[in-house]
Amino acid sequence: MAALTEFFSHLYTMTVVFFTLLLLEVAILIRSLTGGLSDSEKRLITTTQYLKFIEEKNPTIIYSTRSSSRVDLSSNECTVCLSELEEGEKVRKLKCKHTFHKDCLDRWLQQYWATCPLCRTKVLPDEVVANYHRLQNQVEYDGSDEEMIFLLSALHDNSLHRLF
Ligand SMILES: [Zn+2]
Ligand SMILES: [Zn+2]
Repeated sequence: MAALTEFFSHLYTMTVVFFTLLLLEVAILIRSLTGGLSDSEKRLITTTQYLKFIEEKNPTIIYSTRSSSRVDLSSNECTVCLSELEEGEKVRKLKCKHTFHKDCLDRWLQQYWATCPLCRTKVLPDEVVANYHRLQNQVEYDGSDEEMIFLLSALHDNSLHRLF
C-alpha cells in the first residue's frame, strides 16, 4: 500500500514537472516568434541610430584654422582629450560654438548625458537620449532568457534525478 502511495506521489511530481516544462517551453517559443519586442522597445534607439542623430544635428566638418573665426582661435583645443585641434581633423561644432574631435564628442555623448562637455548645452532632444540609454541599460541587463534557460535545465536535472 505504501508503495502505491509512493507511486502516485511520484506520478504527481512528474506531472507537475512535465507541465511546468511545457509551459516554460511554450513561453520561450512565443517570445522567439514575436521577436521579444514590445511596442515601447521598438522606439528604443540603437547606437547606430543615435550616432546618426548626432550627425544630423551637428554635421562632421573638417577642421581648418582658416575657416574658424578669430574668437575660436583662443580655444582651439578639444576639451575631451585635451589635445589641440589640427588642420584637417574631423570635428563637430556644436550650437554653442564649442568644437571637439568627432570621435571624442561621439564617445562623450554615448557615455554621459548628451550635453556639451564644456558648457552643458543640450546637444540632442531629451527623448532621443532617454530612449538610447534605456536600450543600453537593457542590453547590459538582458539576462531574462538566460535565467529562463537556467531554470529549465535545473528542472530537467531535477526530473532526471527523480527518475533514476
Ligand atoms: Zn579630442
Ligand atoms: Zn558648449
